[in-house]
Amino acid sequence: MRTVFWRISASQVLMCCSLLCIVTYIIYIVTLMPHPDITSRSVTGGVRGSWAKKQRQHRSRTLSIDQLKKVAHMSDMTYFEDPLLEPFMHVRVSDTPANKKVQLHIKDTMAKYGWAVEEDSFTENTPLGRKQFTNIVATQNPKAIRRLVLACHYDSKYFEDFVFIGATDSAVPCAMLLDVARHLNTSLWIHGKPVRKTVSLQLVFFDGEEAFVEWTATDSIYGARHLAEKWSTTQSRVDREEWAHTIEIVDVLILLDLIGTKDPEFNSWFRNTEHLFERFQKIEMRMIKLGLLANVDQNHSRNRYFTSRYGHTSGGIEDDHIPFLRKNVPVVHMIAYPFPLEWHKASDDKTALHFPTIDNINKILRVFVCEYLHLSP
Ligand SMILES: [Zn+2]
Repeated sequence: MRTVFWRISASQVLMCCSLLCIVTYIIYIVTLMPHPDITSRSVTGGVRGSWAKKQRQHRSRTLSIDQLKKVAHMSDMTYFEDPLLEPFMHVRVSDTPANKKVQLHIKDTMAKYGWAVEEDSFTENTPLGRKQFTNIVATQNPKAIRRLVLACHYDSKYFEDFVFIGATDSAVPCAMLLDVARHLNTSLWIHGKPVRKTVSLQLVFFDGEEAFVEWTATDSIYGARHLAEKWSTTQSRVDREEWAHTIEIVDVLILLDLIGTKDPEFNSWFRNTEHLFERFQKIEMRMIKLGLLANVDQNHSRNRYFTSRYGHTSGGIEDDHIPFLRKNVPVVHMIAYPFPLEWHKASDDKTALHFPTIDNINKILRVFVCEYLHLSP
């Protein structure tokens, strides 16, 4: 072992000092000098929270009795059955020509209503090989800062041994979304411009919800997983100088699934959206009392659909909302629970459907959207 002493000259001391100065200056620049981003953030510090605060504190506005009646009487179930629902009532497995046909139906309908329609297409490996998927996103006012999202899946589950239509799973929910847009469209626009500047209604039609073989983390919700990821990496302008991840501008994702049979029951699965579920309950109860729901006695003192008998138990059900839930998007899961008896059976076809029930749920959904967006129907 040996020790080495450094012999330092005057010029070397000078060089060391200047080097130290340079290093100190760099450290100062990097850590202490005000960074342009930090400056703008501190200047607009209040703003950073402002849109998000409004989002958190958003309150619906209750419709008057006359408005409630008007929205209820918009129903046109003949039109609902055909042309809205009929195109979905076919086998429409992801990455098949029949699935493409359904995409066209959604895109054409929404474009006809004047909404901005986007496609989110991608390919992914499945147990049955590489497949193409396409989510469709229709936005009434893309310039609005925030979104009220209604969602469902339009693909049907592949069964080798029988024809599966999936009338409740999820042909009817898809038609319900188109129906909301159709009836509220006149209230959403004024002189060709969107009425609501801050929050836009947005409809999301997921592809690839169903597993090709057996439900696993990788063989299911292909579309929802892709869109949640995409929205976590893209940015949306929320103010003059401020951007947020697209997923953050979603006020709430209301996912409809397994709807169409007689008297489904919906539950409040998540505490942070309990107030929105209660909103649905109140709307339903008001409509019952006013005799606006078909096949429901006016003296009926309890909710028939929004019952919340099983809420807040064991984390809910696996569905398209999961990737959004994991990214902190507030979710209302409007899924019939217990599931309809026809679930994933050949009998989940038109014979399973109860149109007065569908009409009632359409009415409640329309009122909810009007109240959330402060529309004056
Ligand atoms: Zn299914």
